[in-house]
Amino acid sequence: MPNRKLFASLLFILIFFFTLVGSCSISLAFKQEKAIKGVFELQQDKLDKNIIKLDGEWEFYWQRLLEPKDFFDKTYDFNYVDLPNSWNGYKINNISGKGYATYRLLLNAEQSGRLALKLPRILTAYKLWINNDLIASAGSVGQDRASMIPQYLPQVAFFEVIEGTNEIILQVSNYYHRSGGLLESILLGREENILHLRYKSIALELFLFGSLLLMGLYHLALFYFRRKYYPPLYFGLFCILIAVRTLLVGERFLICLLPSFNWELAHKIQTNAFYITVPLVMMFFKTLFPQDINTIIYKITLIVGSAFSALVILTPARIFTPFNPFYQIFALLVILYLTYFLIKKARQREKGVIFIIIGALFLFFTSINDIVFLSIWLNDSASSFLRFFFRTGNLSSYGQLVFAFTQSLLLAQNFSRALEQEEVTSIKLKEMNLNLDELVKKRTQALEESKREIAQQKAELEETNRVLYLLSLKDPLTNLWNRRHFDETFQLEWNRALRYKRPLSLMIIDVDNFKEYNDHYGHKAGDECLVKVAQTLKNAFKRGTDLVARYGGEEFVIIMAETNREDAIKRAEFIRNKIESMQIPHERSPVSSYITVSIGVSTLIPDANTTSSYLFEMADQALYQVKIGSRNNIAYLDHDLFNK
Ligand code: GH3
Ligand code: MG
Ligand code: MG
Repeated sequence: MPNRKLFASLLFILIFFFTLVGSCSISLAFKQEKAIKGVFELQQDKLDKNIIKLDGEWEFYWQRLLEPKDFFDKTYDFNYVDLPNSWNGYKINNISGKGYATYRLLLNAEQSGRLALKLPRILTAYKLWINNDLIASAGSVGQDRASMIPQYLPQVAFFEVIEGTNEIILQVSNYYHRSGGLLESILLGREENILHLRYKSIALELFLFGSLLLMGLYHLALFYFRRKYYPPLYFGLFCILIAVRTLLVGERFLICLLPSFNWELAHKIQTNAFYITVPLVMMFFKTLFPQDINTIIYKITLIVGSAFSALVILTPARIFTPFNPFYQIFALLVILYLTYFLIKKARQREKGVIFIIIGALFLFFTSINDIVFLSIWLNDSASSFLRFFFRTGNLSSYGQLVFAFTQSLLLAQNFSRALEQEEVTSIKLKEMNLNLDELVKKRTQALEESKREIAQQKAELEETNRVLYLLSLKDPLTNLWNRRHFDETFQLEWNRALRYKRPLSLMIIDVDNFKEYNDHYGHKAGDECLVKVAQTLKNAFKRGTDLVARYGGEEFVIIMAETNREDAIKRAEFIRNKIESMQIPHERSPVSSYITVSIGVSTLIPDANTTSSYLFEMADQALYQVKIGSRNNIAYLDHDLFNK
């Protein structure tokens, strides 16, 4: 499973990194010797490899600000108190967080030499003398709120230790924080060891700051470019808040850079950086698992988170700090819920959830450590048992880095999945497009095909129509033009002849005694005879200007354009002869023993005074003359003859 491999290699890198950092540093042990009744016995031979915590019983002068000179000839009432501790918990009359005090410790040295102190943050201002020399201070110590200036300034101070008794005097005042005094140990050691400790811490904190800041900015950029996906936004903000907080806790590097940075503001930023991350983490998980995070818990987290951060923004530290424990409990509850939720998710084998769980567990345990360490109960009640477990107060920054890193892995995984999905989709889309192209091609082909078919059908239909039209103009028995077509053509030819002053001839042919033929040979034989006659006529009149039509029954008409009288007569005689010579037997004919025809011919050059029916009438008249005459003959009539 690639996920597991990836996870293993990441774990390896993390371990490698921390081992590298660890092995580069000088190994320093912390000595556990303690001051007894205000005196600390310094064993200088152990300083090569050890750092000494100046813990134990210090002299404590409540509501007094004493300087070295004040101790020359006077003594004052004092108590022995245990350091480190906030003074809130000391059993002294009228003591509270607010106030001022002097701490005093005598340091017995075996030999003189140069040493260094590593001073933690002290609540909330101090001045430190060793052997009459003022060697360190933070803020400005005062006897009331107005006259003091708070400052958290972890620092390193150097001094010359003398053989015998050295006097350490520490003035502290606090009117700004709920607790006063020292929450962490003052460390004593050789210059180089103390500096090493300081540099290592600063380096690690700056490393954390840089990593978290970059991670934060990177995720904000991710969100900027893809605004519909919210987890990178919450996550980016989370990282940046933690990054800022990193500079304000531990070695408080920001205060080193900007010593005059307002204590209240720094405290507000640092507190809110913690407060806001709680709802932010919740929102992050809610957007990742919208269905699974309990909506009521989600809303409560948002409301409580907003309320507390509003409190921090709107009120000074001395007001909002007492509420801190409540928020810490609340944060612990949220952490518990999320842990429960993530374990549930892990059981469901949700993809990528292993990253979150590892990161979240880191975050949760380091946060619990810090919350407990920083909590007022621990500071105020000197439970050494709890102290033993929660010795350092700034693990959560590392937990946050690991959390940030694993979450960024999850987001990266989500993003790459989304990209992969997109790739798959685009491939599918391409395929679909390709298929679509083919489909379109096929459809186009089919369409062209049907277009062709339609065209063909259209042509066929046109052909059919044409044939139908022709049929409507043809005589079905003889396949000659019918009377209708004759009428149309005759009128056209007449008009043309009229226009060009050209001769137009017409002949009407009638089969002689055909009724007898029918009677004798039968109607069928009559039909066959008519077909033969028609064929003969067709063969004889093949000029483009000729038109042969069956006029009706056993009568035929022939239009002969561009044909004059002589030609017409000649052709009439020719056809009459032709039909007779076919020798179709006609026993009953009084004219001949074969089928014969009578023909009436007429020719005209049309003019405005004549009509086509006039020409027809003349031909008909000519035919009539033949019929009343001998039959099997032709007769000619024209305008002149007709009018005689
Ligand atoms: P005439 O010499 O005076 O023309 O005498 P005819 O018998 O030919 O003329 P008539 O007009 O008295 O008769 C025409 C006959 O033609 C009548 C009919 O039986 C016949 N006839 C007309 N059309 C057809 C046809 O399509 N088929 C057949 N078989 N006979 C037809
Ligand atoms: Mg007739
Ligand atoms: Mg006849």
